[in-house]
Amino acid sequence: MFFGKAAVIGVGLIGGSFGLALKAAGLCGRVVGAGRSAANLELAVARGAIDAFETGGGGAAAAVRDADLVLVASPVAQFERIFLEIGPALKSDALVMDAGSTKRNVVAAARKGLGDRIARFVPAHPIAGAENSGAGAASAELFRDRRLVLTPLDENSKEDVDTIASLWTALGARVSRMTPEEHDGVFAAVSHLPHLLAYALVGDIAARADAAQLFGFAAGGFRDFTRIASSHPEMWRDICVANRGPLLAELDRYAEKLRALRPLLERGDGAALEKLFAEARAARERWLNGEYQ
Ligand code: NAD
Repeated sequence: MFFGKAAVIGVGLIGGSFGLALKAAGLCGRVVGAGRSAANLELAVARGAIDAFETGGGGAAAAVRDADLVLVASPVAQFERIFLEIGPALKSDALVMDAGSTKRNVVAAARKGLGDRIARFVPAHPIAGAENSGAGAASAELFRDRRLVLTPLDENSKEDVDTIASLWTALGARVSRMTPEEHDGVFAAVSHLPHLLAYALVGDIAARADAAQLFGFAAGGFRDFTRIASSHPEMWRDICVANRGPLLAELDRYAEKLRALRPLLERGDGAALEKLFAEARAARERWLNGEYQ
């Protein structure tokens, strides 16, 4: 498996890490990036994530010309425009994948933008996030020992899906397969809801008259619970809007859990609270111990 030219559209944390990892694994000749910010792309070149870049209108199409492999790694609301732009410029045998955190909207955008090239688009989501963003945060090791979800399309050939799976495995990831619907349901529960809760809690504290005092005394628990509220707002705006159906269902479920917990607090039912906390702690320990891997 070797790709003479790879193109990365959106060279941030994920796209930059992909460029670094691909080169470190010796799986490609040249990586060309495209994006919105020349300063970020220059940093990506300086860090060795890409060899060259294209910017401005038509930059994505120019970057994919002659590319054997294309990764789209911008915020997900940009995908439709990017697919429409690159579709006509793709080499006939180019393999295309993405790194988007949502999948049903990405697949719809790819069907619209890539037209009859859709068969060579294999949707992918590396579960390798961080609250940092941009090429400066990229690392060749980002995908090592992390999970990666493929949501193959009916149109994909087995050979292409296997190639993409082998590629991510070579970068250190553990590859799973799901449908786009299953993917969006799973990540609404364990990724998108926690981000929404963290942003909401920090936003609520910040809006209070005594915010300075509250933040002044906030310590480890607050820091751990809200770490992900330092994530990129544009990226999370796009994820929440794209996956709002499953996310609303998870939000309602969580609100119901809080409603059920409220009377336990009201009547000071320590035994019931302790039981709930003990069960939650045991479940988290099983998860931390790798029981669900
Ligand atoms: P990032 O902000 O670090 O990088 C995104 C890059 O895309 C930026 O450099 C930005 O300039 C560029 N960009 C924006 N609009 C563009 C456009 N129209 N054309 C070309 N480039 C454009 O974000 P990231 O964390 O690398 O996330 C990238 C993608 O990966 C997103 O779709 C996100 O949902 C997904 N993802 C993120 C994480 C995470 O936790 N960070 C994990 C898995 C997947």
